Amino acid sequence: MSAKITHVRRLDHAVAWDESEQRHVYLADADLVFRDSEILHVGPGYVGPADNVVDGAGFMAIPGFVNVHSHPFSEPANKGLTEEVGSDKLGQSSLYEYLPVFGLDAEDAGPSTTVAMSELLKSGVTTITDLSISRPGWLDDLAASGIRAVVAPMMRQGYWFTKNGHTVEYAWDDKAGEKAFEAAMQTIDRALQHPSGRLSAMVCPSQIDTCREGFFKEALQEAKKRGIPMQTHACQAVVEFPLSARPRLRHPARLRRRGGALPDRVRPPRHGAQHHRPLHGRRHHRRHRHRYFPA
Ligand SMILES: [Zn+2]
Repeated sequence: MSAKITHVRRLDHAVAWDESEQRHVYLADADLVFRDSEILHVGPGYVGPADNVVDGAGFMAIPGFVNVHSHPFSEPANKGLTEEVGSDKLGQSSLYEYLPVFGLDAEDAGPSTTVAMSELLKSGVTTITDLSISRPGWLDDLAASGIRAVVAPMMRQGYWFTKNGHTVEYAWDDKAGEKAFEAAMQTIDRALQHPSGRLSAMVCPSQIDTCREGFFKEALQEAKKRGIPMQTHACQAVVEFPLSARPRLRHPARLRRRGGALPDRVRPPRHGAQHHRPLHGRRHHRRHRHRYFPA
């Protein structure tokens, strides 16, 4: 049986790609017609067949937004908290002192993801990259929401702490890193074969300063093997600049020079620069800021 054709009739506006102008344009009084995941018509005056007709008056249709970096497993709980705090002596970042305090328990990841998906979808996002910790049920939660998701299971060998509030220290646990690596690869492979057809994956060594160079190289190998990209966190706070001089902690540019541990498939090494630089004043570079909630 062929899928039904839906005709959204006479939208006030549609934002559509104009091939001749090579840009998006506004179309007034436009029809939008689709069958399954296929768009059949965008523009005024559709006269073909339709199984469902929806009145588009008062609405505008736009291509879905793509969120390239989000943490649905945790950030709904941080919203309203970590915007307000930052360590004065750690570059105004909240990562090292505050984020561990506000962390959710593992069993809260499911409900947190559901809240995040609702807000994402309501704000017009139809595709996300979800950087979360591997857990049972994660892929099904995403699939049930209807969103298109790039699953990026975070994995790392070290975590941050500070004893004195102005120096970041690292606790290393290679065994835990190995376990997370394994779980991440399993999750990725399941995502790539998920029956929903809406899931894909990225490899995600969580942070440039919490994974050793060898870990990055192995991660990249796995990404290459599967033909998928890799994403990490880098330059999240000014704290990282002096750290990058330490032999163990290598930044992307240096790794690139040292034999291509992070070549072109890695994206986006400038995450921190995009998310954490003081674009709009002091408050805005205080925290590990993400953009998937409506303002
Ligand atoms: Zn992040």
